[in-house]
Amino acid sequence: MFAASEAPRFLVDQNVGKLAVNLRMLGFDARRFGSGPDKQLVSEALAEGRVILTRDHLLAERRLVKKGNLKVMLFETEVAEDQLRQLLSDMVFRSFICPFSRCIECNYPLYPVMKDTLSERVPPYVYQNQTEFKECHHCGRVFWKGSHWQAMQELLRRVGVDNNTSC
Ligand SMILES: [Zn+2]
Repeated sequence: MFAASEAPRFLVDQNVGKLAVNLRMLGFDARRFGSGPDKQLVSEALAEGRVILTRDHLLAERRLVKKGNLKVMLFETEVAEDQLRQLLSDMVFRSFICPFSRCIECNYPLYPVMKDTLSERVPPYVYQNQTEFKECHHCGRVFWKGSHWQAMQELLRRVGVDNNTSC
């Protein structure tokens, strides 16, 4: 259903907002739609080449979708984890999983950062026990494979994805 040549980008409707953080944890570009009429959501998705994720049937029934110009993935369930399961049932999406590569707060890519520059920026026990750090150049947050990482590993296991990605 979706082209596999490049990583999918998503525009996350408010009615499935929680999905955005889970998708970012897996490395997907998942921008949240702020607020506004459906018309605006559609035009932003078209302009940025994003797949709309929504529970809104009317969006999925638009002529643009039927003609193939606009991609919409429709969710019946309200449960964020089941939504993720549905999305990842598409093997094309699975192939782009790249955990620990995107800021869960602002959706920007993460870049490796040298540990010895961080002694003032992360808690001492983290500094002592972690070796790999990444940084968001947009919001300045520093990430390491701590509790978020573990939560993500468990999430992946629950939705049935082997995390053997070599991204
Ligand atoms: Zn950030």
